[in-house]
Amino acid sequence: HGSQGLMDNRTRLIKYNSLIIATGSRAKTLEETGVDSGGYANVVSIRKASDIGHLRRVISERAPRKKSSVSTLSSTKANKDIPACVIGGGYIGLESASYLHGWGFNVTVIHSGKQLLTRFLPPEVGFRYTQLYRKSNVTVILEETPVGVLGGFNATGILMSDGTTINCSLVVSAVGAVPNTDLFQNQLNLTSDGGIKTDNELQTGIPGVYAVGDVVAFPWDFYNGTHKRWPFGDHARRSGEHVARIILYRPHHLLEEIKVDQYLNKTASMIANKTTYRYIPKTTFDSLLGPRKKIDANTIVESRFIKPAHGEFYGYMIGRVIYFNCIRNRFKFGAFWVHNGKAVGTYMEGGLNKDFRLMKKVAEMQLPVQEIEYEHMEKDGLGWARETLDRELDASVYPGFSIKDSFFHSDLSPRQTDIDKYDASETFIEEDTAFERSGYSGVGSADYSDVMDIARL
Ligand SMILES: Cc1cc2nc3c(=O)[nH]c(=O)nc-3n(C[C@H](O)[C@H](O)[C@H](O)COP(=O)(O)OP(=O)(O)OC[C@H]3O[C@@H](n4cnc5c(N)ncnc54)[C@H](O)[C@@H]3O)c2cc1C
Repeated sequence: HGSQGLMDNRTRLIKYNSLIIATGSRAKTLEETGVDSGGYANVVSIRKASDIGHLRRVISERAPRKKSSVSTLSSTKANKDIPACVIGGGYIGLESASYLHGWGFNVTVIHSGKQLLTRFLPPEVGFRYTQLYRKSNVTVILEETPVGVLGGFNATGILMSDGTTINCSLVVSAVGAVPNTDLFQNQLNLTSDGGIKTDNELQTGIPGVYAVGDVVAFPWDFYNGTHKRWPFGDHARRSGEHVARIILYRPHHLLEEIKVDQYLNKTASMIANKTTYRYIPKTTFDSLLGPRKKIDANTIVESRFIKPAHGEFYGYMIGRVIYFNCIRNRFKFGAFWVHNGKAVGTYMEGGLNKDFRLMKKVAEMQLPVQEIEYEHMEKDGLGWARETLDRELDASVYPGFSIKDSFFHSDLSPRQTDIDKYDASETFIEEDTAFERSGYSGVGSADYSDVMDIARL
């Protein structure tokens, strides 16, 4: 590529051969959803690190602490019963609500959907999280929208569309995110939701200019080439790595391929194979609320080491949703998305590491599903997944290498009694730690999927 230029806000020209756009998202404002925020200082959105500083200041003003206080946030006593409202019951709203609740606030979540998280997850799963939040004494108001924020010097209440007011001393606005792409409006092809359209290498219409992370709308094979964004952390990391590889290795690849081309006339497809961004969607949902630990100020400080509620999604949210519960644990549940006779997406909450790995594998391999199996999936989702994976692996053993007998496989096939014995207690942490020590570093690392790649060759 020839050298191109970029202008910064001091009108300096920065020359580049390759440019990666990774400007991420900003929080959608309440005004953009038709709510008058009143511009109060105690209405906070959570996006940037500085937003946390803002929240910290608002909290210490609401409930002044002694100067010697080490932590201004986690003093549950000082915040006790101070009403806080979270507008938006998506994953950022709920994560905020779980922290505020842990810090002692009396939290109300206002959400326009029928259940929490429904823009992201199916209603059956959203229903479980609604139960979890309500059980933890978070007030959840569904199918209602605020009209405006009321107050004098500071916000003191939320005016609802039915004329009622909900008192609050702090408002967290979590009504969505917008990609930071205004800057490129007249220069690049944008989708209707503001994503930057790229080809399957994540290259924009301008050669040498790439987009990654929340801003990129790339063509998805699975959706017949439709351009979509996936504004989550896992994709941000992988797309960044992908583009960096292309930029660093492309000249080298080209030379190699040209040599190969003298023998095989397949250059174009071989290059495309290496440079196409192939991504199996993944995301996680974490909340401090959950059945495994009582929440107090100390556990919040320690929260990196516990996983009260932890859900993982893999694959595609398309087709029929089949939901399952684990009989012995109300907060262990999951869902499959079945499309064209295949399980193309999975969600799991409250599983052990091996359950998450199993569900990831189901979505990666897109296990076949017949209608007759729906009942089994509903009754015992993990059991169905294990049996079907066993069957499929039996049918596709790589010559000379039996996956079924391997260590990895036995990990994926705990005896039924192991699951039956499971209860929501400390064992969660201990078992996972044992797994990690045995050489696993958790879902997403060099685990079972590497073996499958070899087997598929
Ligand atoms: C509270 C919260 C919780 C989340 N939890 C999860 C989760 O549990 N799991 C998950 O998968 N994802 C989660 N996400 C989403 C995840 O953080 C994003 O998908 C990811 O950070 C996107 O990465 P990015 O590099 O595209 O953009 P960002 O991380 O947003 O980084 C973009 C950077 O570019 C800067 N920038 C913007 N415009 C310009 C400009 N014109 N010039 C220079 N710099 C600019 C911005 O200031 C920012 O620093 C969460 C997000 C939030 C806010």
